[in-house]
Amino acid sequence: MQDTKLFETILGLQPPWHISRVALDTTGERVDLWVEHAVDERWTCPECAEAPAILAVRDHADERVWRHLDTCQYQTFLHARVPRVDCPTHGVRQVRAPWAEARSRFTLLMERLIIDLILQCSTVTGACRIAGITWDEAWGVMGRAVGRGRARKAARPIPYLGVDEKAFRKGQRYHTIVCDLGQATVEFVAEDRRTESLAAYYTQLTEPQRQAVQAVAMDMWDPYIRATREGLTDGHTRIVFDRFHIMREMTKAVDTVRKQEHRGFLRAGDASPLTGTKYLWLFSDERRPARHAESFAALQALNLKVGRAWAIKEALRTLWTYRQGAAVRRFFTRWYGWARRSRLEPVKQVAAILKRHLDGVLRFAKHPITNGVAEGLNSKIMSIKRKAGGFRNPSNFTTAIYFHCGGLDLYPR
Ligand SMILES: [Zn+2]
Repeated sequence: MQDTKLFETILGLQPPWHISRVALDTTGERVDLWVEHAVDERWTCPECAEAPAILAVRDHADERVWRHLDTCQYQTFLHARVPRVDCPTHGVRQVRAPWAEARSRFTLLMERLIIDLILQCSTVTGACRIAGITWDEAWGVMGRAVGRGRARKAARPIPYLGVDEKAFRKGQRYHTIVCDLGQATVEFVAEDRRTESLAAYYTQLTEPQRQAVQAVAMDMWDPYIRATREGLTDGHTRIVFDRFHIMREMTKAVDTVRKQEHRGFLRAGDASPLTGTKYLWLFSDERRPARHAESFAALQALNLKVGRAWAIKEALRTLWTYRQGAAVRRFFTRWYGWARRSRLEPVKQVAAILKRHLDGVLRFAKHPITNGVAEGLNSKIMSIKRKAGGFRNPSNFTTAIYFHCGGLDLYPR
């Protein structure tokens, strides 16, 4: 078998294309293949998709090179001058080469391999090393993969959404991340956390999609609230404030009460019973390790302010066990009265915030959703950050989130 025939077979190259020359460089460990087409071949304009191939070659583009899968240990490159046609509708266009996507420097098979390597390797640099490609080439492949995946994505209804924010580096601007709570996929990423950031997601939904949204889990963050009120059908009735976010606020309030009380003891020149107890107060009742049971009971017996704050926080957790609107409202009224009378300023502040956002807090009874799934995605995003070894810019972070969490069909066809 001739070497040209051998490569045509393993490349799956079909007429009118054939390999005209093979060059083997044993010191450089590379194989170069020149691909040509039959002279009298007729072509289709790439933009007139189904048109018959009737156009003659006008001229040829300059020679281009595509990296293909290695031939054993040799890097392998395809060279070709792609013909250009003069379409009566679209003007001069380069025909589509069957082995690559437009603007890619890799063949389809090589691009698939790179996508698989980036998905599987623990770092992007690792994938680069195995494939023998540069960091920029890897990000180019990821960007194109995300582009085609998003273009292919069907507009399906998503009943439950979660909106969350994520900084790609400490001290950097936040990204807004919208996910499908049912499928645990990231649906949308915006490189800020303003009203417009989330509004941009709602705007690109189809009308049936906008109406299909039952509820959106989010933090009590005004820009997201505003965007949802304005962007969805009956938007103000779709908001569910995330219980984990609320409990985080409440736990912070307990910690503030502890700090103030601890400082009070020290100022008075007393030994503080709160020394070294910070983490004891952060546990929920059932998460507290058994070895702390005695010391915690002893602290509770002291009737401290932080003990009261903690009890109020623990009581609030019951709110998410109700499934009926009237019952949960009664519960909240009682709890709120207790918090208001507590004379604990940080606790009263959180209670006031909950009261102000009450409908969205209590709507959990009807739509029991949380950003718990989004939090799971968040830990995946954390690992993406480690994997990328530092994003050089915010848009690379966006690309990586879609690439790994978007549930997209990434491969070229
Ligand atoms: Zn055309």
